[in-house]
Amino acid sequence: MVKICVFCGSSMGYDKKYRQAAKEVADYFVSNDISLVYGGASVGLMRILADTLLENNKEVIGVMPQLLIDKEVAHHHISQMIVVESMSERKQKMVELSDGFIALPGGFGTLDELTEVVTMNQLRINDKPLGILNVDGYFDKLLEFFDHSVECGFVRPEYRKNLIVSDNITTLMTDMQKYQPLSMGKWVEDIKIESDH
Ligand code: AMP
Repeated sequence: MVKICVFCGSSMGYDKKYRQAAKEVADYFVSNDISLVYGGASVGLMRILADTLLENNKEVIGVMPQLLIDKEVAHHHISQMIVVESMSERKQKMVELSDGFIALPGGFGTLDELTEVVTMNQLRINDKPLGILNVDGYFDKLLEFFDHSVECGFVRPEYRKNLIVSDNITTLMTDMQKYQPLSMGKWVEDIKIESDH
């Protein structure tokens, strides 16, 4: 069984297009028999995803630190809740459990999770596909910032090019299946040479 971890808002966002996108992702998971790994909350876009899968008898695994459970945002009806000590342990657990990741619109929490996976992939600590679902251009400014980082010499162009982005869940998942990890050998050599000058 394929398990995909979704990072997304603990808020709904103002426009209904964000809720619609979360529902479309959940429907895609149901039709393709994909299990959901996520933050374990009963709030925001996370809740739409989890509830849609549960209504269709699909597996939903939440990973949540005790401190968030204490704040009473945990979803109590999911297939399995894994309780961890800290936010960093939670990210590690989500990465370990999943075959790939999708980022939907969200705030700082979503960005933290998205950039953690990109960094892990870059360092080859794990290397699993990450797709960014760019709902109505939500991530355009972040992608522009990544282009700016390439222009300023802080992000390697090949890693920027290797990001999988689409506004359509079917295309995104198809591209994720074709994902090719990059070798970091040359990059490390380049950094050493650059730092010697
Ligand atoms: P944000 O994008 O800031 O709303 O944060 C959402 C992301 O961070 C989700 O993918 C969760 O894994 C995690 N997260 C942040 N806040 C919560 C919360 N109240 N309950 C569960 N997970 C959360």
